[in-house]
Amino acid sequence: MAAELQALAPLDVARIREDFPILARAIRGKPLVYLDSGASAQRPKAVIDAMSGYYERHHANVHRGVHTLSQEATDLFEGAREKVRRFLNAASTREIVFVRGTTEAINLVAQSWGRSRLKPGDEIVITWLEHHANIVPWQMACEQTGAVLKIVPIDRRGVVDHEAYLSMLGPRTKLAAFSHVSNALGTVLPVREMVAAARERGIVTLIDGAQAVPHQAVDVREIGCDFYAFSGHKLFGPTGIGVLYGREAVLAAMPPWQGGGDMILTVSFSGTTYNELPYRFEAGTPDIAGAIGLGAAIDYVDSLGLERIAAWEHELLDYATRRLSAVPGLEIVGTAPDKASLVSFTIEGVHPHDLGTILDAEGIAIRTGHHCAMPVMEFFDLPATARASFAFYNTREEIDVLAAALVRAREMLG
Ligand code: PLP
Repeated sequence: MAAELQALAPLDVARIREDFPILARAIRGKPLVYLDSGASAQRPKAVIDAMSGYYERHHANVHRGVHTLSQEATDLFEGAREKVRRFLNAASTREIVFVRGTTEAINLVAQSWGRSRLKPGDEIVITWLEHHANIVPWQMACEQTGAVLKIVPIDRRGVVDHEAYLSMLGPRTKLAAFSHVSNALGTVLPVREMVAAARERGIVTLIDGAQAVPHQAVDVREIGCDFYAFSGHKLFGPTGIGVLYGREAVLAAMPPWQGGGDMILTVSFSGTTYNELPYRFEAGTPDIAGAIGLGAAIDYVDSLGLERIAAWEHELLDYATRRLSAVPGLEIVGTAPDKASLVSFTIEGVHPHDLGTILDAEGIAIRTGHHCAMPVMEFFDLPATARASFAFYNTREEIDVLAAALVRAREMLG
């Protein structure tokens, strides 16, 4: 795999950076070094233009009007859905539900599928390294139904214990839900194997793909999952838009979640009938510009090629791991053999929040805190970590700037 990736023509990162207007900004008089794409990536001009072009020329409400603008808006909106379908290799656009983001996607499944399927004593299996978005909706569904949450342990590298996972998939397990990539540690989970084991036992699977889709090609049919969730803003698209992929047979058997316009066929006081997929799960006016921006982001990522993106990001990850490991007092948290392009770390004697502030003064944006993964922090007995996360527009020089600033911060505070 590594050799194959190396053989690809490399990305022209200097040119790519010109597509992202924000990367030319100065922060506190220093060139911006943006190492927080894991929290939210930046947008290329193509995405910004697609959204403003839509507002300038095509805006109207979708699905409702016979007039030209409404038809144009509908075509653009549904065109974006088709781009998402292709991006995930889903079988049909009926399987692509537009939502606000990963969080809303998982809540939709927890409330619609979970509340209608779960009974007291049923079990939901998640892992220890989940983002709160893949923990709290299940805790809520458990409170509402009497189901029980089971947590698969991880080891000190941040690798999920596969044997423990298998042993937890029992006769009462109804759902297994896990990240594709951990946002706090960078661990890539073996989702295909995990899904296969669940499916053999008739267990429904949901994958939180928020941190995976910006870094690697995802094929939901190859993975075999029932649900896959991601957010537009981590994929170089807008905030406020995301996707729930649901296998058609599973989605079709689920009750609606929110009620209102667009999700119905007929409404009368003697009864209401619901729309077909995916509209049944899209009540109200959707984020039309957001979906169009997401479609443009997918076109942009496709134009670079996810294989080439993955190859460059692996180089960045290796380089950052080497450079940061050489910083005195720095310890990397999360050392799984298969990692995506982020590095979580602590520096002896320096609180991560102080570090974040010091780096900001040098124009460097990293994330500090619990990364919405408090159980992971608890596992490593840490209040917080600092996290540098990389996208294809980052450079080795930016990692050098980070490493030098970390050495200075340690000298100042450590
Ligand atoms: N899951 C993971 C792994 C994440 O990293 C994030 C965001 O950081 C989310 C879920 C939640 O995404 P959003 O806030 O876009 O809904």
